[in-house]
Amino acid sequence: MARIVMKFGGTSVGDISRIKNVAQRVKREVEAGNEIAVVVSAMSGTTNQLVAWAREIASLHDAREYDTVVATGEQVTVGLLALALQDLGVNARSWLGWQIPFRTDGIHGKARIEKIETELMIERFDQGQVAVVAGFQGIGPDNRITTLGRGGSDTSAVALAAALKADRCDIYTDVDGVYTTDPRIVSRARKIDRITYEEMLELASQGAKVLQTRSVAMAMQFGVRVQVLSSFEDKPGTLVVDEDEIVEQQVVTGIAYSPDEAKITLVNVPDRPGVAATIFGSLADAAINVDMIVQNVGQNVAATDMTFTVGKTDVDRTASVLAGLRSDLQYSEIVTDPNVCKVSVVGVGMRSQPGVAKTMFQTLADKSINIQVISTSEIKVSVLIAAEYTELAVRALHTAFGLDAPAAAGDD
Ligand code: ADP
Ligand code: ASP
Ligand code: MG
Repeated sequence: MARIVMKFGGTSVGDISRIKNVAQRVKREVEAGNEIAVVVSAMSGTTNQLVAWAREIASLHDAREYDTVVATGEQVTVGLLALALQDLGVNARSWLGWQIPFRTDGIHGKARIEKIETELMIERFDQGQVAVVAGFQGIGPDNRITTLGRGGSDTSAVALAAALKADRCDIYTDVDGVYTTDPRIVSRARKIDRITYEEMLELASQGAKVLQTRSVAMAMQFGVRVQVLSSFEDKPGTLVVDEDEIVEQQVVTGIAYSPDEAKITLVNVPDRPGVAATIFGSLADAAINVDMIVQNVGQNVAATDMTFTVGKTDVDRTASVLAGLRSDLQYSEIVTDPNVCKVSVVGVGMRSQPGVAKTMFQTLADKSINIQVISTSEIKVSVLIAAEYTELAVRALHTAFGLDAPAAAGDD
């Protein structure tokens, strides 16, 4: 007997027949004698619609009310899945975040899980009951509903697996594993059988939305065994493992892209100590994550341009924070460019093999793609480019780093 957390994403619960399909899969695990907690997302498209409604009313909305609205999608799917399970004769009960509870901090819209109380759920397991848990939501210190950021059901699942000391956390989705890049834009992307936590963390944080970044960080921290697999087909998926469980290491394991960032340039900020601390300190105080940063150092002038990226959804709030600094910093203008995309190549093999950045830059140059900002870490190189070149860049890099699957018969 094993204790398993099964997580189903939006497409997997996208309509009633799919919810019934999920119920069948859960039933199979129950009949195999396992204790099961199922975490579900909202039906695909639902959360987008809820977010759009909140934004339509106010782009700078109250984050507590935003959470009240966007958390509702999961309430529908937990109830429906519990009904579908009961219909199959499986003892099942739904749980919303506050009922468990999933206690989080108070950063509405991107709250972090602090504690999950599992006693009651474990008692119900002893009675043979399946727990059907709403992903993406928790309850904050103010006793109000919080949400964990887009894609947050993955994190709900991994956190629950850690709290329950589950044997496995199986993330069922609409692809059959983690690929060398998004299989929806590169048809010759290859499925990866095993990927390290570290690489998965980097790919996720650079935009491979197959797992939410925080879920991978949490799996790594608590040693949760995560598997990504298809909810529609019965075949092995991708295991996320420690580095020593991987026999043959590639230099580049995968390529990610993120269209979710916008480029902000503060023109003519004074070139003196403390300016960066003021700008990025104020953004941090407003819980705005800044990713890439470049400061252009002027030769003889006392002013410089500061360019950085933030999430597209944070652009309005960023502009409002920066507007508050204008009298202090005396910059001449704020230029915002949402038409950018960050493309990253990732691999732990890079630590021992130089030349990845060179190959990346040359490949983009050969396609006449201009690089706007660069950032690197030990196991990744990222570039910011114009959004219109995203697919071209990802495909060219996928080929340049030898990741293409062999052409199938009939391919061009
Ligand atoms: P879910 O609703 O199940 O959480 P998501 O849409 O969040 O599913 O994540 C699955 C999607 O992630 C896939 O449909 C695929 O387009 C995308 N994706 C991006 N990068 C990758 C990758 N490297 N491997 C697999 N899927 C990826
Ligand atoms: N429903 C939420 C979203 O679309 C959470 C999730 O699917 O993981 O972001
Ligand atoms: Mg997801």
